[in-house]
Amino acid sequence: MIQHGHFFVPGPTEVRPEVLEAMRRPMIFHRNAEMEALMQRVTTRLGAVFGTRRPVHVITGSGTAAMEMAVRGGSRRRVLSVVHGDFGERFAKMAESCGRSVERLTAKPGDTVPLDRVRDALGKGDFDAVTATYSETATGVLADIAGIASIVRERPDCLLLVDAVSAAGAVPVTMDAWDAGAVVSASQKALALPPGLGFAAVSEQFVERARALGDRGTYLDVLRYEEFAGKHQSPTTPAVSLLFALDFQLGEIEAESLERRFARHTAMMTACTAWVRGVESATGVALVARPGSFSPSVTCIRAKDTNAPVLRGMRAKGYELGGGQGELSKTSFRVGHMGDHTVAGVEAMLDVLEQVLRAL
Ligand SMILES: *Cc1c(COP(=O)(O)O)cnc(C)c1O
Repeated sequence: MIQHGHFFVPGPTEVRPEVLEAMRRPMIFHRNAEMEALMQRVTTRLGAVFGTRRPVHVITGSGTAAMEMAVRGGSRRRVLSVVHGDFGERFAKMAESCGRSVERLTAKPGDTVPLDRVRDALGKGDFDAVTATYSETATGVLADIAGIASIVRERPDCLLLVDAVSAAGAVPVTMDAWDAGAVVSASQKALALPPGLGFAAVSEQFVERARALGDRGTYLDVLRYEEFAGKHQSPTTPAVSLLFALDFQLGEIEAESLERRFARHTAMMTACTAWVRGVESATGVALVARPGSFSPSVTCIRAKDTNAPVLRGMRAKGYELGGGQGELSKTSFRVGHMGDHTVAGVEAMLDVLEQVLRAL
């Protein structure tokens, strides 16, 4: 069993005992006043995390469910997908599986798609939605979402759908300032909760569009969530215990303050990326992302050969790291330094990682 503080997978992430403890409460009925008060508290504080005055819907499901809500309700026919890695590709494939025609702008692992390419593509195609991943967990790249948003904003009929799954709670998310159609996230990344909740905030323009679309399904129909948000309820039975944990954790985040939380994530990112550069020549590892686009949540590191001995060696010392994903599944490993991890905890882990790499 991996001890608390030693779990550095980029999702699910380390969950502190206090957060787990918050779930050990008797059930409450999801149509009573106590739950409505909880939902109201949760929605307001999630609004600060998402940078929006719109309600943040809480879905029982993983982040993929929230992405599907965004695609089903927020795109019509033609979607432009900005792809920086496996999760960007997941968004594109999802739009295809929902019957949309998708054009991709794909970057090589670690690179970002230049904004000019986004502008050119949008000028040529008749796109009604753009999908983009803020923090690409597969490569450790942070996209310039504000830049993409300013381009999409030039086209009034085009909605920006943002996957902020490993970004929300780690970096500023400013949905209203971006004028984004949807921003989605999940519980088990930078919010450091157990997996099981998806989050989705959508704009008024998104709601209008969803209303005009026929084929929204039932469980992920955003209009049902909008209707129930009016009375601080969930359309179906929510994951009550996870909501207790969320309520507790949002209080913790508020107590730390978002600014300090963001600064802590930047410091963990800097500790990790500077360390990689320091040991690069001695150990043969290398950063995947380019300077200037490092994600504060996750660092993706190219292994000298394959990742298997690194992951095995760390496990033998009581630490769990993430493997690679997509194209980089065997050749890289990932350090998730998000949520409630600390700079000291990251540094202690990196010392062990250095021993493991030098012994290979
Ligand atoms: C984890 C993650 C998701 C969602 O994955 P789920 O397993 O469905 O929660 C989506 N996008 C990104 C960038 C992620 O890191």
